[in-house]
Amino acid sequence: MAALVLARAGHRVALLDDGGQSPPPDGPVFKIGEFLPPAARPLLNDLGLLDGFLAAGHPSSTGTYAAWGSAALHGRSHLFDPYGHGWHLDRLRFDAFLRDAAVAAGAELRRATVLERLDDRLIVRDRVTGAVAPLSAPWTVDATGRRCVIGRRHGHRRRQDRLVAAYAVFPDRPRSQPEDLEARTLVEAAPHGWWYTTRVPAGRLVAHLTDADLATPSLRTPQGFWSALSHTVHVRRRLAGHGPAATPVPRWAPAHGLRLTPAAGPGWVAAGDAALAFDPLSSQGILTALHTGARAGRAVADCLADGGRSRASLADYTAFLDGIAAAYRRNHAYAYDQEQRWPLSPFWGRRRTANSPAAA
Ligand SMILES: Cc1cc2nc3c(=O)[nH]c(=O)nc-3n(C[C@H](O)[C@H](O)[C@H](O)COP(=O)(O)OP(=O)(O)OC[C@H]3O[C@@H](n4cnc5c(N)ncnc54)[C@H](O)[C@@H]3O)c2cc1C
Repeated sequence: MAALVLARAGHRVALLDDGGQSPPPDGPVFKIGEFLPPAARPLLNDLGLLDGFLAAGHPSSTGTYAAWGSAALHGRSHLFDPYGHGWHLDRLRFDAFLRDAAVAAGAELRRATVLERLDDRLIVRDRVTGAVAPLSAPWTVDATGRRCVIGRRHGHRRRQDRLVAAYAVFPDRPRSQPEDLEARTLVEAAPHGWWYTTRVPAGRLVAHLTDADLATPSLRTPQGFWSALSHTVHVRRRLAGHGPAATPVPRWAPAHGLRLTPAAGPGWVAAGDAALAFDPLSSQGILTALHTGARAGRAVADCLADGGRSRASLADYTAFLDGIAAAYRRNHAYAYDQEQRWPLSPFWGRRRTANSPAAA
């Protein structure tokens, strides 16, 4: 987003992307983070990207089901959402669409890993040749996700908790079995964390969210993952027709809330997860990454247009992040407060303590 905004403003932009992690040998190529909320519609529209996005045909999401605060499953529909339905993204295709839009606006895409920033130069390793060379860049937008390659050297990163996700994508059921047509995401609270499951292009994603120190090592094996999910009530029903033998090797990803302060300084700005990463319960990470990316691009364009306004535009950007972070904290506290069934569970106890007025 930042590259798109800056290229459209007429600046020379290098978009350096290392292409992500290597795909696992045993499963589909897949990037976690798939639900895009309805509120993305006006943002994509403002950026002139809505038609192209809609043409890509990402499946609609009509709502969610949750067993949260009680064992009963409650549905929430997007029917009354002012922006309509959300989407189950094919993340890799969506990310490629955004890269292509930035390139079409004039950004130069390079498969390269940013190693560090030294004054107004980036030290960059080319992914194709392996050559390491400096790149002159008076301004850098750090959009490297939780790795936060540049920002972590300039700011302080505060973790909210130790949340991790163990997840697996179950391939589609054989044709002899009924097709899995359930389009809504399902969230289910459990004694030591929570689960969610949703359809993705590669099949059905199942993820377990818990704290790193509470996650048993068996969650790393297909059998252990299957055994843990068979203790759920609703998620396991979505997995009817699957079994331990067909369970893929689970992957793990960090999922804790994270805030970088400051998130901008002379010559650099952080956006997306690099600036502000959320507990996935919020389902706001992608939308926030789009929003902060576009705002970071505008802040840099302002700084480039008029050095004297630099401070004000960076301060505006920081205030914008403060507002998002405050809303996130409130919503996070409210959501976890709704679940009171396991008073002795460390997972839920930690969140109650962290959200208590005394901790604020
Ligand atoms: C389990 C889980 C489920 C989630 N579910 C959802 C969901 O349903 N909806 C939602 O909105 N959000 C969800 N999220 C959050 C969402 O995935 C993130 O908020 C979002 O991906 C952030 O986008 P980003 O562009 O900031 O970072 P990323 O998507 O992490 O992208 C960072 C990019 O930078 C590149 N990069 C990294 N380091 C370098 C380097 N040194 N040099 C060059 N390039 C580099 C990477 O290859 C990558 O392309 C979920 C997160 C988790 C952990």
